[in-house]
Amino acid sequence: MQSDKLRLIWIYPDLLSTYGDQGNVLVLEQRARRRNIPVETVYVRSADPIPEQGDVYLLGGGEDRPQILAAARLRRDGGLGRAVERGASVFAVCAGYQLIGTVFGGEEGQPVEGVGLIDIGSRRGERRAVGEIVAEVDPELGVPTLTGFENHMGVTDLGPSVRPLSRTVVGTGNGDGTEGCYSGRVLGTYLHGPALARNPGLADLLLSWAMGVETLPPIDDTWHERLRDERLGTVLGRQ
Ligand code: GLN
Repeated sequence: MQSDKLRLIWIYPDLLSTYGDQGNVLVLEQRARRRNIPVETVYVRSADPIPEQGDVYLLGGGEDRPQILAAARLRRDGGLGRAVERGASVFAVCAGYQLIGTVFGGEEGQPVEGVGLIDIGSRRGERRAVGEIVAEVDPELGVPTLTGFENHMGVTDLGPSVRPLSRTVVGTGNGDGTEGCYSGRVLGTYLHGPALARNPGLADLLLSWAMGVETLPPIDDTWHERLRDERLGTVLGRQ
């Protein structure tokens, strides 16, 4: 990999890629390119080692068994943890979000050891959370209202060293009125959509972390805004 480019790493497309979550990588690539930031994306299959020189690591959702496999391989590999220690950013969705914590519920509800990048623990909830989510983001992050959809059995308990990403207005999220969390530059969420297509502000937060800047030059988001208005209007109008 060349170090003069922004390096995006998509972790395990063969295990963790439900609901078009891979679109998150495409959105980051596009938003970087539109600002003349050179980008390189590496798709790392589960048989391959995790490159440690990435800037943003992305993980998607997955079914229970691929999630367990992915967690075991990532733990054995160790590269993601070393990249985070070096200051890399992580954006993890649903199964990916659960597995970067310390523990999550397996297909029979058994506790499965996670990668332990952040202080969260997930377990099987009483009923599947399915549907649209609307959530208000921690004001510290300066990101507009989140829109997305969720489909998961797990609920997630946040430890003291992480902050909730947002408070749910509609939907289940972590299961306690919050949705997602972040700690340093590691951010996890239950949102699909893909999340970064529905929430370009979140994409720009990740890009600004990776570039080490406060703000990025604005770009024309007419299409994203139309999608957001349609989704937010429909979901909040149902209330
Ligand atoms: N298997 C996990 C759960 O049901 C994650 C599901 C997903 O990624 N959509 O909680």
